[in-house]
Amino acid sequence: MRARKRIGLVAHDGRKQDLAEWVKYNEGTLSRHDLWASGTTGGMLEAVCPSLRITRLKSGPLGGDQQLGAMIAEERLDVLIFFTDPMTSQPHDVDVKALMRLSTVYNIVLALTRTTADFVIHSPLFNSGDYHPVRPDYAAYIRRNQPGESEARG
Ligand code: PGA
Repeated sequence: MRARKRIGLVAHDGRKQDLAEWVKYNEGTLSRHDLWASGTTGGMLEAVCPSLRITRLKSGPLGGDQQLGAMIAEERLDVLIFFTDPMTSQPHDVDVKALMRLSTVYNIVLALTRTTADFVIHSPLFNSGDYHPVRPDYAAYIRRNQPGESEARG
């Protein structure tokens, strides 16, 4: 993983203030990395930290979470800071789950809480290129037999 990380930033409405404070506090560190955010989160962060360059995607419920998911599937995202609101149901709950799932499928850094995000950003690995994440091997899954395949071959 290169030293300059590719970082996604997303917060549900009930957690946006939390993320704004976290990003403001860590503005200097984050300015040395490449940042993406879901639409509304990105707009809020630009207002709070005008010096940060953030690529804004669509609003989460309008496809922004899926755009981040596609980045993960294409191995174009290293870290996802995703402040979810555990007290509010989300209209795009399936997208939220998909984003968390793909983060685990591709073994990227995923911080769902502010405490985890603090630990992540203060890790010596955060600004270093020395870490080589284990890339899960899905070859056996891709090669798996489909129903009826052996009969068709036979
Ligand atoms: P938003 O989306 O930044 O556009 O509010 C956040 C989310 O995915 O819920």
